[in-house]
Amino acid sequence: MKNAALLLLSTPQKSEGFIHWLENHLLACPFKKLTSLDCPGCGLQRSVIALLKGDIAASLKLYPPTLAILVLMIFALLHLKFDFKNGALMIKAMYIFATAIIIINYIYKVYNQQLF
Ligand SMILES: [Zn+2]
Repeated sequence: MKNAALLLLSTPQKSEGFIHWLENHLLACPFKKLTSLDCPGCGLQRSVIALLKGDIAASLKLYPPTLAILVLMIFALLHLKFDFKNGALMIKAMYIFATAIIIINYIYKVYNQQLF
């Protein structure tokens, strides 16, 4: 984990190497393996890689909830460190928001038959 963080923070050439490594080592989705249909989380890894490359539009297209999830995770970590006033309430609101985006995205994919 420490090495991965170092790779992310190092020179562009090395981080491109890390992104390339990530692209070739995506975790397989067990739901997709069993059913050959996307689960509500499918696309997250590819979306994060697009974000690491700086392509926000591609990231949103691949998996719209990614930014909301990352903001939630970063805020939750900062709240653990700094104990913001109303931080727990903010985390709950962000969680509900991210979950709503996940559900709406999945319903959209089901409705438009993009699960394959
Ligand atoms: Zn999946």
